[in-house]
Amino acid sequence: MAVETPTTDAATDAPEGARDFIRELIQSDLQAGRVAGVVTRFPPEPNGYLHLGHAKSICLNFGVAQEFGGRCHLRFDDTNPVKEEQEFIDAIKRDVRWLGFDWGEHLYHASDYFEQLYQWAEHLIRAGLAYVDDTPVDEMRALRGTLTEPGQASVYRDRPVDENLDLFRRMRGGEFPNGARVLRAKIDLAAGNMNLRDPVLYRILHAAHPRTGTAWCIYPTYDFAHGQSDAIEHVTHSLCTLEFADHRPLYDWLIAHLPVPAVPRQTEFARLNLGYTVLSKRNLTELVRRGHVTGWDDPRMPTLAGLRRRGVPPEAIRTFVRNIGMARANSLVDLALFEHAIRDRLNASAERRMAVLRPLKLVIENFPEGHSDELVAVNHPDNPEAGTRTLRFGREIYVERDDFMETPPKKFYRLSPGREVRLRYAYLVTCREVVKNDAGEVVELRCTYDPASRGGNAPDGRKVQATLHWVCAAEARPAEVRLYSTLFNRPEPSAEGDIFAALNPASLEVLTGALVEPSLANVPAGEAVQFERQGYFCLDAESAPEKLVFNRTIGLRDTWAKVQAAS
Ligand code: ATP
Ligand code: MG
Repeated sequence: MAVETPTTDAATDAPEGARDFIRELIQSDLQAGRVAGVVTRFPPEPNGYLHLGHAKSICLNFGVAQEFGGRCHLRFDDTNPVKEEQEFIDAIKRDVRWLGFDWGEHLYHASDYFEQLYQWAEHLIRAGLAYVDDTPVDEMRALRGTLTEPGQASVYRDRPVDENLDLFRRMRGGEFPNGARVLRAKIDLAAGNMNLRDPVLYRILHAAHPRTGTAWCIYPTYDFAHGQSDAIEHVTHSLCTLEFADHRPLYDWLIAHLPVPAVPRQTEFARLNLGYTVLSKRNLTELVRRGHVTGWDDPRMPTLAGLRRRGVPPEAIRTFVRNIGMARANSLVDLALFEHAIRDRLNASAERRMAVLRPLKLVIENFPEGHSDELVAVNHPDNPEAGTRTLRFGREIYVERDDFMETPPKKFYRLSPGREVRLRYAYLVTCREVVKNDAGEVVELRCTYDPASRGGNAPDGRKVQATLHWVCAAEARPAEVRLYSTLFNRPEPSAEGDIFAALNPASLEVLTGALVEPSLANVPAGEAVQFERQGYFCLDAESAPEKLVFNRTIGLRDTWAKVQAAS
């Protein structure tokens, strides 16, 4: 596996020209002169935190803008004041930046265009292409028909233009309660595409908006806001997920019938679905609301905030998105692919340290009491610039409980009575005696060391199979370590109905008695280091100098599990 050169900025990810159908399309639009330059946008609705699926869209939109020398806008699709909050707006900006992208001065809001959108709605009314409908919601739904039956006209469909204008203005003026009336486009009630059966353009909603306050009590629908916002911003390529393919005819109809300043084009790509994960804000909101996780940034969440807190580097997310490519059909991506990108990146970038998660005391009987030794440890095996650090070694150390077996099975080469092993960077030690408590549990190992093996090798060249990590009792720091597994125990949690039935009860394991080498107290929060032989870990946001808390970002491949499975 190639060791990737660390990059910190998305702009330095090598462009590769047309590597998928979207890039091909853009390239051919440019070559044929259909567009003069590339303008894209990432249009989140600020009703939750961004997740890995959004990362795919961000990498695509900002990525193609970079590759083709264009620009990408960040546009908040803030047309539904009821579910949208400033907290989400701030989090989205933070997360897009963290992922490595920059919208520069091109920050927009659909709400910036409310007045223009309103004027365009009047334009449609005057052209006889929109009408105010007083039909109650349920009845309107019934009248729309089904896929096999055409819709039927409501009695308000042929209202005169003047009456429509008057009513629409009074809707804006606040005369009517929520749900009393809507504005609908007048298109085709027999259309095979349900979205063309006189779709709703405006609804009444007496709710304050985070940006426009109480200026409005009617709000445009997604369909009436999105394409026109694209046009106002001169977006050339409006890239969205496949579920919007059915909305494209409406998108194009509105653009064709309004005096818009530009003609954007919508193209759909497959949304990201990831094994053992849910990527839907609605479901993620429920996980938070019901307390199944501690918040949007719980390290088990597939949100960018959760992944960051867990120690996943943004480069790994970008590489992952690049590796999965842009398909035209939806599919389920194997979680192992994402994990591979994380390990690959961290293997190259993370410094090595030692930590013992489930400590077992080891006393070296022939090491003089009160003495200590200072040993040199390498911070990164492939990166000399990462330097070295000094580790103290003494008579009492701790090793991993799992690294000892009193009656070892075949192929278990680690500590057991009479067995000699290497302590990483230190000495060879041999287990002489096992100390147990009254319950018969092993509480201590009495060992001897070979003073001539300093650095880890015996002068006579005798072989030892295992090298164990350890910490020195005199200087180790206590820590809590949080081990995460997938939040769900089914590969497709949303496929079989209730996602909550698929929650993994063991998604979090907390180890309170871990011991870590002292240098680990000073790692910046969120920056993953490798605990040798264990995996990648980072200090959690809740960590404090007096109480260190580590998150496991991801484990190393477990070779022992493989040996066990094979035997
Ligand atoms: P969700 O389905 O999670 O509620 P959404 O589509 O409602 O997401 P938006 O904030 O509207 O969320 O999405 C912003 C952009 O991100 C849209 O262009 C949308 O198509 C894209 N997007 C959302 N989820 C995914 C996904 N799983 N894979 C790829 N793109 C996605
Ligand atoms: Mg949406």
